[in-house]
Amino acid sequence: MTGHVRTRYAPSPTGFLHVGGAWMAFFNWLFARHSKGQFIIRIEDTDRDRSTEAYEAAIIEDLRWLGIDWEEGPDAGGPYGPYRQTERSALYHEHAALLRARGAAYPCYCTREELEADREQAIAEHRPYRYVGRCRNLSEAERRQREADGRVATLRFRVPEGHPDLDDFIIQRSDGTPLYNFANVVDDHGMHMSHSLRGSEHLSNTPRQVLIYEALGWTPPRFAHFPLLLGIDRKKLSKRHGDTSVRDYARLGYLPAALVNFFALMGWYPEDGRELFTVPELIERFRIEEMGKSAAVFDIQKLNWMNGVYMQAVYRQNPDRVIDLVVASLKDEHLLNGEVSPEVRAYVGRVVAILGERLRLPGDVVTYGDFFFRDVEYDPQAVQKHLSAPGVTELLRRARAALGALPAWTLAAIDATVRGAAAQSGVAAKDVIHPLRVALTGKTVGPGLFELIEVLGKECVLARLDRAIALIESTGPSAAARG
Ligand code: GLU
Repeated sequence: MTGHVRTRYAPSPTGFLHVGGAWMAFFNWLFARHSKGQFIIRIEDTDRDRSTEAYEAAIIEDLRWLGIDWEEGPDAGGPYGPYRQTERSALYHEHAALLRARGAAYPCYCTREELEADREQAIAEHRPYRYVGRCRNLSEAERRQREADGRVATLRFRVPEGHPDLDDFIIQRSDGTPLYNFANVVDDHGMHMSHSLRGSEHLSNTPRQVLIYEALGWTPPRFAHFPLLLGIDRKKLSKRHGDTSVRDYARLGYLPAALVNFFALMGWYPEDGRELFTVPELIERFRIEEMGKSAAVFDIQKLNWMNGVYMQAVYRQNPDRVIDLVVASLKDEHLLNGEVSPEVRAYVGRVVAILGERLRLPGDVVTYGDFFFRDVEYDPQAVQKHLSAPGVTELLRRARAALGALPAWTLAAIDATVRGAAAQSGVAAKDVIHPLRVALTGKTVGPGLFELIEVLGKECVLARLDRAIALIESTGPSAAARG
């Protein structure tokens, strides 16, 4: 790649930042960072009815949350601003006048009704609609006449000969505001963009934009269009697939580092097939040439897996960040309430550590680790499977006695004690491990038994074993199995 790279993300502030938008912003940013160039944010707010300042602020906030930064933008300023289209009217007027003076654009006085009738006729004749060119070659006198009639002109771009697929298109509305294709060209040129990397929905705009560049005597940036972002069913990613705004993902406790790593692998296929990259590694390794052309699939399972990996990595570096997220999930489920003491936070941290990558999202703590925060709720199937065999109470009693006599509550001691109790009873270790797990957690799956025994603590473990033994005895093994 030669020359100085300047890329941009140009959102229209008509909604929250969509994951598809964030994904494109990320690649523009990554390409700029890899190339030691600049990344710019431009707000395309010409649609006054749908754009709001609140959405602009939210988009900026969500981009920042992802760790994306920019040298120039509506908040940061910069040498080629303003960076909001509504503040750039003078530039659009100036260039519209230039195009008109060169004959590359002309005023069009056609009314809405006339254009509608043209369109209906095209439909009736089974041909595609194109502007009929009614105002293309009006004389000055004819223009003055229409203005005297009170008609207000739009400005139409005169598509040069040799472009049979394109008809003359409007670049400025009758109220003087620019249309997207025109404003986009004035801005990308004025902001010295080297590349325009954007969604494939803009593919059909590109030839029109190139003609505007040519008419103004400008060299266009290099264009590339992202493939469509699909859901796992290979249909266009939409609300049907679940959450689509970055904000939703933040609320669910996804980590920004996991999201950007995931974004990187949608569309970019590093040669060695590696999947986990830190941001500095991505910046170093990324090659725009390695981007694929086929549709990119938003595979939520993969994102969840990645988030689990990142939760552990972030926990090791900055435990409080993950603890905050997990505490919030526990509070949502009322497994924790009110002010959370440093001791409880430390306990949550130990739970995070032993759940490991099972904890893909903070809320998974409830699925796999609720028993750390409330009394055991026995899963009847687990009871049936592991607590109803004859002799189980005896095994539990023996394990309880051995654990109760332990002087030091360490992982190694717990491990040796449980295995020792099995050996003493003449059974395999798993024959003690499974009943103990159900007695202590109520379920058959979860973190390692010795680890969870250590984290629960002696007092809690002994009390839970007493309760499980009493339950089996009071109801009889088969009644216990019925729950
Ligand atoms: N505002 C346009 C959009 O949101 C951006 C187009 C472009 O990047 O050129 O789709």
